Amino acid sequence: MSSSGVSSSGVSSSGSPVRMAPHYCPYCADQDLRPHEQGHTAWECRGCLRVFSLTFAGISGVTS
Ligand SMILES: [Zn+2]
Repeated sequence: MSSSGVSSSGVSSSGSPVRMAPHYCPYCADQDLRPHEQGHTAWECRGCLRVFSLTFAGISGVTS
């Protein structure tokens, strides 16, 4: 029990926050999107085979 390396939270093993999942391809509006190996923000559209990156740019109206 003391040697368990499983994290208690739902965060993935890579240490990055939960991947944001787009619901639609921004290019062809296809909904069949898969995570791409190019990075943890990269998504591959199975409809048009484009690979795009989804980046969180902040919350509107919130200044840091
Ligand atoms: Zn597409």
